[in-house]
Amino acid sequence: QAVPVITVDGPGGSGKGTLSGMLAARLGWHLLDSGALYRLLAFAAQNHGADLTNEELLTRLAANLDVQFIADENGGEQRIILEGEDVSRSIRTETVGAGASRVAALPAVRDALLARQQAFRVAPGLVADGRDMGTVVFPDAQLKIFLTASPEIRAERRYRQLLEKGETASLAGLLDEINARDERDMNRSIAPLRPADDAVLLDSSHMSIEKVLETVQAEARKRN
Ligand code: C5P
Repeated sequence: QAVPVITVDGPGGSGKGTLSGMLAARLGWHLLDSGALYRLLAFAAQNHGADLTNEELLTRLAANLDVQFIADENGGEQRIILEGEDVSRSIRTETVGAGASRVAALPAVRDALLARQQAFRVAPGLVADGRDMGTVVFPDAQLKIFLTASPEIRAERRYRQLLEKGETASLAGLLDEINARDERDMNRSIAPLRPADDAVLLDSSHMSIEKVLETVQAEARKRN
């Protein structure tokens, strides 16, 4: 029998990262943060001075990414190690996010990362977070969630996160970046951001994370 998978797709800032981490911890399942792979690639490319439009070079980098994901036993954030260095924080900047969405539009790059993502499907189960988890990477997943929130709410959440980290940001600037990234992710020709036909749609704009988690767990129970 196939190892069970729950996919969580949606735009950045919808809360899918937080939801996926909490869900995986609660179920005792593995976690795939697929966005981190695209971020790692953009980060590595920037470090190697590679041009983000050089598909051949980026595909080679993608196939050879030396990365480790180290889970936090208590359901906290996992640590991400690239070429021996902890880059968990450095890959979360807006610049790396924007680079990630550019390299993610290259078909050969997505191909090179496909098997690597599918290899995360290990017993007892996997929670996979991204843009195309339910549509491309795990089309046979038991439960597919598509989590959204309005751009304004997502910008506000991001703004508060940055302030908490002691960074400065402009709310209007963040909203522009969110809109630009959505536009790129939804309108690219390969694996665009869209709900799978059999996905459960959830709008987290006015829901607490606990409420979202509860709703998803109830959906998971229905499918057991
Ligand atoms: O989710 P996160 O913001 O970390 O993702 C960064 C970028 O990686 C997204 O804007 C998107 O372009 C890309 N991505 C993707 N497919 C995924 C996950 C992320 O194209 N499954």
